[in-house]
Amino acid sequence: MAIKFVQSEVLENKPLNYKFHLLRFKLKHKDEKSFSFKAGQFILVALENSLFRAYSIASSPKQLPFWEILIDITPNGPGCKYLKNLKPGDEIQTSTPKGIFALEEDGASNLVMGATGCGLASIKPIVESILEQGKNIHFFWGLRHEGDVFDRAFLETWKKISPGFQYEIILSKPENGWVGKTGHINSHMVEHIKSLPPELTSVYLCGNNEMIAEVKLKLSEINFPQERIYFERHY
Ligand SMILES: Cc1cc2nc3c(=O)[nH]c(=O)nc-3n(C[C@H](O)[C@H](O)[C@H](O)COP(=O)(O)OP(=O)(O)OC[C@H]3O[C@@H](n4cnc5c(N)ncnc54)[C@H](O)[C@@H]3O)c2cc1C
Repeated sequence: MAIKFVQSEVLENKPLNYKFHLLRFKLKHKDEKSFSFKAGQFILVALENSLFRAYSIASSPKQLPFWEILIDITPNGPGCKYLKNLKPGDEIQTSTPKGIFALEEDGASNLVMGATGCGLASIKPIVESILEQGKNIHFFWGLRHEGDVFDRAFLETWKKISPGFQYEIILSKPENGWVGKTGHINSHMVEHIKSLPPELTSVYLCGNNEMIAEVKLKLSEINFPQERIYFERHY
């Protein structure tokens, strides 16, 4: 099926630290009706020479015609180079939203969410869409260094909005003085999931394939239902 493309104007390209940028866009008026999405979906950004790269939409559907992406610039290939150099007023061409990673109405009251790096991008709008539903949400965010943590304020705000929301930031390469958990999020998530009733629990994963594959494997070893593990691989 042919891909439908839309145009958006760059409003802001904000470096959050050495690694992450947040880009804000506004859809061109003519394209507003073509761009509806579910929290968790992604778009394809058209680069030069018929290249495309996928990016999860990091904002809530309620914010349309404004929308955002969160990018990790460190791979530094064609996608990162194109996006990190965009300036306010530039125009970009993207596909309409795609993908099946989204909140599932499966009756779970415990949602365990795990993201590595900018895997946060697709988890964030999903969490925002359910904060007021009284579910137990436990979010694990895996990063390498303390300097990668560009913001905690939004996580603290989520805690205030929803008493059922908890989060943990887990660093794989912490500097001296880090008092939080260390290692990869994989085993921390699995230990937490073991304490929950499987029939009332769903797992949402977004980020690198190694993390997703290992969490799925460890959960299969404890007979956690694989059909309640929803995931989006970024690379
Ligand atoms: C569905 C989907 C959603 C995605 N959403 C996002 C998003 O929200 N934000 C985002 O930054 N990226 C996202 N990506 C990854 C993105 O599409 C590009 O792969 C990434 O920006 C690198 O592209 P590039 O052209 O700069 O580098 P390339 O030359 O294409 O890639 C260089 C290498 O970097 C690897 N790589 C890609 N991403 C990372 C990473 N984060 N950390 C380490 N290595 C990486 C690639 O596998 C490749 O080996 C998503 C990918 C998919 C499939």
